Amino acid sequence: MQQDEFSDHFGILDAVELAVIVLKVGDDGQPRYVAMNTKAREATEFEHSDYAGKTALELYGGTIGRRALNHHLGVISSGKEATYDIVLPTEHKAKYLSTTLRPVFDSGGRLAYLVGSSADITSERERDEALELTRMALDKAEEASQAKERFLANMSHEIRTPMNGIIGMCELLKETDLDEQQQVFADTIFNSATALLTVINDVLDFSRIQADKIALHDAPFSLRDVVQDVGTLLWARAAYKGIDLRIDYPEDVPHEFVGDASKIRQILMNLLGNAIKFTEAGHVTIRAAYDPGAAKLPLRIQVADSGIGIEPSQMDWIFSAFEQVDRKTARVIEGTGLGLAITRALAERMGGTVTAASVPGEGSVFTVGLNLPQPGEAGPGGGDTPEVLGSRQAVSTAPGLPGPELPPEALKGMRILVAEDNRTNQLLVRKMLKSTGADLRFAGTGQIAVELFESEGADLILMDLSMPVLGGLDATRRIRTHEREAGLPECPIVALTANAQPSDVEACLAAGMNDFLSKPFRKNELLARILRQGKQA
Ligand code: ADP
Repeated sequence: MQQDEFSDHFGILDAVELAVIVLKVGDDGQPRYVAMNTKAREATEFEHSDYAGKTALELYGGTIGRRALNHHLGVISSGKEATYDIVLPTEHKAKYLSTTLRPVFDSGGRLAYLVGSSADITSERERDEALELTRMALDKAEEASQAKERFLANMSHEIRTPMNGIIGMCELLKETDLDEQQQVFADTIFNSATALLTVINDVLDFSRIQADKIALHDAPFSLRDVVQDVGTLLWARAAYKGIDLRIDYPEDVPHEFVGDASKIRQILMNLLGNAIKFTEAGHVTIRAAYDPGAAKLPLRIQVADSGIGIEPSQMDWIFSAFEQVDRKTARVIEGTGLGLAITRALAERMGGTVTAASVPGEGSVFTVGLNLPQPGEAGPGGGDTPEVLGSRQAVSTAPGLPGPELPPEALKGMRILVAEDNRTNQLLVRKMLKSTGADLRFAGTGQIAVELFESEGADLILMDLSMPVLGGLDATRRIRTHEREAGLPECPIVALTANAQPSDVEACLAAGMNDFLSKPFRKNELLARILRQGKQA
């Protein structure tokens, strides 16, 4: 194609949808603009008189000009087409073009023209940039939420460790000979500490619910036992106020279901706890009902009271977080205002509901509706992860909790290795197990625990998680390796720890532990764990 013939056709380029530029390669080897179609003129905002006869460097100047010229020279020297993106700094905002630049040879085989066609990719670029910004914001939010999780886990650990000392020692103190006044002081410390623990557990539970971190551990369980347990745990609190606590579990209601018993216990503890808290006289009743005909939620558990009731105007928001009914004349009522928010979130997590009805001055009824399969109807779900004691349900401010009463010397001769670095907690375990006749050995680090186990063995190990030198998880792994290598049976290991997150339970089990008890623990709970694991071994 002759050069002149070619330039005669520039006008045709206006029919093209893309932005097209044409550069003529001079005798000096420099490419200079000779044509831009309408689209290209719109994109660059240049007129023919602006660009004609100029190189890209002369036209744009600076970095943009140098870059464009390099692209042009690259195609000239290689003789091959190239595709690249360019940014045009137009008056309003940057324009992004994806350009393909082709060499055009004359009939003599000389590279005479460069023809570039560009598509405007500004909106794609903007979308990519917006996506990138969103991704960065999401990463940041995720980071912040992980930081919050870490903070909560740490705070929980730091508070539970001393709380274990306070509650445990107080429990032991109450078992000693105290005069009436001392008994009142000890009860007050005990009740205040357990109340404080409830607040801490509420806040942790609530933040886990907000972060959608509530995992369900489904297994077959007896609902009747759970209802009865809750009644037993709160019985003393009701009796103290002179309220009649009734449990109504009719014969025709099935006992066995598959579900997360600890979460159901937590729901019922919250509702029954509230019923007792807001009732001054009369009764509180916990009642189960089962209607196989109700397709949606056949299982109903009602907690009814004859207490102060709730005004209709307040009904809507008692389930909101941090809200308490404003009773102008009443004294400030203890509680975080989180209980019902947690209760409803837990029920909803299980596919259920919690509703309330009330007549002010006469009482309230809270109804939990659930649809739990019965064993055999559906395979058990999440396995038998031991529940994390430490939530509201594990704490009762009722003095004189009934529990397994062990005959003295019940663990006589049982060699228990206690890996625990905190001196107060060592003392606590020593005192709690004193009357059982167990033979206790203490290790202040995981390393010492491993060495003691390897040299002397043990019948059961109580293992703290965070200890200096070697933590409880690593110590457990080493003990399990040692047992395998020496052909020994597995010694039961129970984690005794202030880390109360569900992920901690999983970490303990994964490391080879058998059970988990979260601090602060009660004497009865400690004994129950030892008996259970001792029996299984
Ligand atoms: P809190 O931890 O403060 O008890 P909840 O979320 O459990 O918070 O309850 C929120 C509010 O709902 C309570 O402060 C109380 O005013 C009201 N409430 C809950 N249960 C009852 C009840 N059984 N009788 C009367 N009022 C109740």
